[in-house]
Amino acid sequence: MNNKDKFTQKSLERILDFYSNRGFNLNYFPKLKLVDEDFKELPYTIALVKNEIETFDKFSDLSAKLFGVSIWKEAYHLNVSEDSINELNTAIKKNVNLNSLITLDNYGGGDIFIFPLYYKISETHQEATLAHEVWHLIEKEKGVLSDSLLIREGTAEYAEKLFMNERFVRELEEIEEFREILYQGAGKIVQDKVSHLQNPYEAMLDPKLRSKIEEEFIERLKPVLVKKVKKTFEDKNYLGKFAAMSIKIFPGLSDLKSNLRKESILDFYKKLGANKLAEEIKDQDLSHLIDYYRLIGF
Ligand SMILES: [Zn+2]
Repeated sequence: MNNKDKFTQKSLERILDFYSNRGFNLNYFPKLKLVDEDFKELPYTIALVKNEIETFDKFSDLSAKLFGVSIWKEAYHLNVSEDSINELNTAIKKNVNLNSLITLDNYGGGDIFIFPLYYKISETHQEATLAHEVWHLIEKEKGVLSDSLLIREGTAEYAEKLFMNERFVRELEEIEEFREILYQGAGKIVQDKVSHLQNPYEAMLDPKLRSKIEEEFIERLKPVLVKKVKKTFEDKNYLGKFAAMSIKIFPGLSDLKSNLRKESILDFYKKLGANKLAEEIKDQDLSHLIDYYRLIGF
């Protein structure tokens, strides 16, 4: 073990002590897996625990369920039902297997995966990152992750803030970047709900309080997300990249290239397996949806 790895190991021990002093012990000593290449799928990743990936799939289901209908309404001016959004989501997932796209299996076993970026940040920040990851492990062991999926980065982020003796100042609505909304935006709501309590860590593990926090997060996230999707329509540069990625994932889309008409769009959704959606939109005005495809380069 080199000095860097020794320091990381020591950090982990300090974090476990820290949580243990507040009444939270893991039943095992987590194994660190030091990976010597960047995490390809999400290159900005510093460290990860497995359950962050395992829940990716559920997370996308939940997002589609919660936000799909409003996004189609606001962005494409189309009325679609929750049912057809679910069908579309299933169809998309048949084409893109998120869990096989993003996996940690190639790196061997471990509880916390550390990527090279970790060693590029300060030692203080390294230790804070571990406090975040270990909190995920504690939540998993306590069995509170499954019902409050959307705030799990918020609670881990707030556990990290507490460890650092820092506070969040920005509200969710003031944050631009989607990932930061999930982390810091949710973290700020968690902070507002638990920081005044005697043991904020314990409060974060209370299922009732968690579902309250999750509810508020969803309520506030909805309008922000819709606004973001609308704004994306103005960013041609981003949309171009998005189109290229979409064609790679859904080869059927390239048929639209030379043939951008109502019928071909309906055909695309049918071929994809989103029949209900195609049926629901076929008699509506598709001009906004066509504009969208045109905008992204079709
Ligand atoms: Zn995390």
